[in-house]
Amino acid sequence: MKDYGFKIKVADLLHNPGTKDEVSFEKKFTKQIDNIWIEGIKGRVILQSTDPNTVHVILKDLEVVLEEVCEVCWKDYQRKVEVPLYEADFVMPAFHPDITEKVHDEYFLINPKDMTIDIEDMVVQAIWLTMPFVLRCEECQKNVENLLEIWDEFEVDESEGGRVKFI
Ligand SMILES: [Zn+2]
Repeated sequence: MKDYGFKIKVADLLHNPGTKDEVSFEKKFTKQIDNIWIEGIKGRVILQSTDPNTVHVILKDLEVVLEEVCEVCWKDYQRKVEVPLYEADFVMPAFHPDITEKVHDEYFLINPKDMTIDIEDMVVQAIWLTMPFVLRCEECQKNVENLLEIWDEFEVDESEGGRVKFI
């Protein structure tokens, strides 16, 4: 059975503002990302309540291997994702009445019914942000880097400048 649980109880933290706690996790999966390698996602979560309505959450050393397809040569390859640090605030919905749904990039919501937070969306967001513009396997990445080095050696002759312009 795969572990899809990302819920954390934060009642104690909220009852004692300023309290800090930490929990590690490994071999976790999310249905929002379907190409996670069998080792799953691992990382650390540091939580601190800043007031009775807010928990500041820090994801540290997030690691996951994704099974990707190279967009250049169409070979399967594994992309190792490492997120050293990713932070977000979880707030009580009543404290922010204008928020009806999860507002990504700004806040996530605490579930007031059982005083829990679900960090799944936050973890997914942190992983998505590492998505390269073009997926390239190691070999294709090397080819691009070599090409860029060759390009760097070409210097623009000053006398030839000024011929291209914006239209
Ligand atoms: Zn490739």
